[in-house]
Amino acid sequence: MAKQEFQTEVSQLLQLIIHSLYSHPEIFLRELISNSSDALDKLRHLTLTDETFKSLPFDPRISLELDEENKTLTLSDTGIGMNEEDLIANLGTIARSGTKNFLAQLTADAKKDSNLIGQFGVGFYSAFMVADRVEVVSRKAGEEQAFRWISDGKSGFDIEPASRDVAGTTILLHFNEEGAQYANSWRLQEIVKKYSNHIAFPIFLTYDKSEWNEEEKKSDKIRTTEQVNAASALWRRSKNELKDEDYKELYKSITGDYADPLFWFHTRAEGSLDYTTLFYIPSKAPLDLYQSDYKVGVKLYVKRVFILDDAKELLPQYLRFVRGIIDSEDLPLNVSRELLQQNRVLTSIRNASVKKILSELKNIATNKPEEYLKFITEFNRPLKEGVHGDYANRETLLDLVRVKSTKVDGLTSFADVKSRMKEDQKSLYYITGGAEALLRTSPLLEIYKKKGIEVIILDDDIDEIVFSGVDKYGDLDLKAVSKASTSDDLKDETEPDQAEALKPLLDKLKATLGDRVKDVRASVRLADSPSCIVSDEEEPSLQMQQMLRAMGQTEMPASKPTLEINPDHEIVKKLLARIDDVTTEDAAWLLLDQALLMEGVPLLDPASFVQRLNRILNLSI
Ligand code: ADP
Repeated sequence: MAKQEFQTEVSQLLQLIIHSLYSHPEIFLRELISNSSDALDKLRHLTLTDETFKSLPFDPRISLELDEENKTLTLSDTGIGMNEEDLIANLGTIARSGTKNFLAQLTADAKKDSNLIGQFGVGFYSAFMVADRVEVVSRKAGEEQAFRWISDGKSGFDIEPASRDVAGTTILLHFNEEGAQYANSWRLQEIVKKYSNHIAFPIFLTYDKSEWNEEEKKSDKIRTTEQVNAASALWRRSKNELKDEDYKELYKSITGDYADPLFWFHTRAEGSLDYTTLFYIPSKAPLDLYQSDYKVGVKLYVKRVFILDDAKELLPQYLRFVRGIIDSEDLPLNVSRELLQQNRVLTSIRNASVKKILSELKNIATNKPEEYLKFITEFNRPLKEGVHGDYANRETLLDLVRVKSTKVDGLTSFADVKSRMKEDQKSLYYITGGAEALLRTSPLLEIYKKKGIEVIILDDDIDEIVFSGVDKYGDLDLKAVSKASTSDDLKDETEPDQAEALKPLLDKLKATLGDRVKDVRASVRLADSPSCIVSDEEEPSLQMQQMLRAMGQTEMPASKPTLEINPDHEIVKKLLARIDDVTTEDAAWLLLDQALLMEGVPLLDPASFVQRLNRILNLSI
């Protein structure tokens, strides 16, 4: 038997792994099964592509044999196997430059180092976390001679000729104290199901099963072999192999949802990055959709091995209703949570996934509008969050959200509103800040109605925040009707000499209302109402201010509204004719208060409002 030293780097790595690296030693099984799965993948590939291997039998399986008494576990596969050279190169040295780099960066600070190691697969060596002696017997496909590699993970390894019936690799673990807990069939089944359920090959466990012997009234130990995993990495099969039923079944098994999903999007990307994604849209919004501790619905796999299912960085928050799987070929198996946040591979997958999900939704919106409506009923609001937060995809998201409008019953899209624009119309308009009924009757809409311009009605409580940050739809300006500046589409209404004539009244109103208003001016947007209030372009609207205050932002300086009055209105004309009349002051306040009421803003002083109203009523009766 030839005794060989580990390459220095291997000894270093082993030290690191054995001492303090992993908080979950159970992952040794995931790593070894994943190696076997890779070895099976490689052999399958050879039998498919290489003439000399075509005749080889390919009977893929991974077997676990548990000896509870002696505390050993044997893991074997019928994969590609290793010859003597391979064993020395793969299990005695570290060939990958990435791992060498990693070792060079080590600081001997255990905490920093364990963060670092998240970037590198340590694979096979993790066996030494749970075993004080590891034996590998392997026979390379296409070769006759097998070899045994033995090591205690400390001093080096021994290698000697051995025999094995068929090609493949067998790994015998002699559990150490830490590993003894895994000499337990329940535990092994649990770990396999947790991490390796969707490994594409069957994993069998052979163990002593207790069965009740009724005659002798005792339980017998019966040597049993059972398949432990589902062996169904469905998402790795091609789309045309899969039926709708398959997709639905997988959806239910990963989500626990009883209902069928609305849609699913299955993508295989090959090229600079290799990955598969399978995303589902549930038919109903998850119950925790609007809770900050919502459960993440997308699981991360690496090479069909389950990695984690609670990483909020897999998709942007607004897509938290999406369920499914991301399976990457490029990430290391033990990618750490910290690392996910700035991992380039994952960032690329995430960006591509968002684009994919949104473009598929857009397809459905175009081609199956009725199906899309079901989706919108549940998920319009998260999409709006996306409009707010996902600047890169804002255009697409604006096309996906649905809104109400003055021209249609039910919901419509920005694109449809655009298509209904009047020939000479320059911008798109919306109104926010209150319930639908209040918005529909707002005096701010009068001129638009008169001119036949459609106005988008945004009555969701997040609309104000979302759309105050959106000033374009495509190349069109998107404008709030409550903002003070006169829009291009209304300009022709202003008649300078009329404004001039109104000036004495405007001055009187300003003097009366004092610092309750920022300004008083003639309006171009009113038809039937005598007055309305508007806010400055850059200021939050009154409703937004109310909302911010309700959310605890008490520091915010109260900005004042601008009062606009309608020069063509009977009341305004009469007031102009008797500016110095005693009733004009009451009328000034009533013009302001009614405008505030119409915007759903509560009055500061309802008692004075009622007194004034009654004085005026008294005069008119
Ligand atoms: P990694 O799997 O990340 O490459 P490992 O340390 O787990 O790192 O394994 C090193 C190498 O040993 C693998 O790349 C593979 O070539 C070989 N190997 C490990 N396990 C097996 C196996 N069961 N069958 C064949 N080759 C294996």
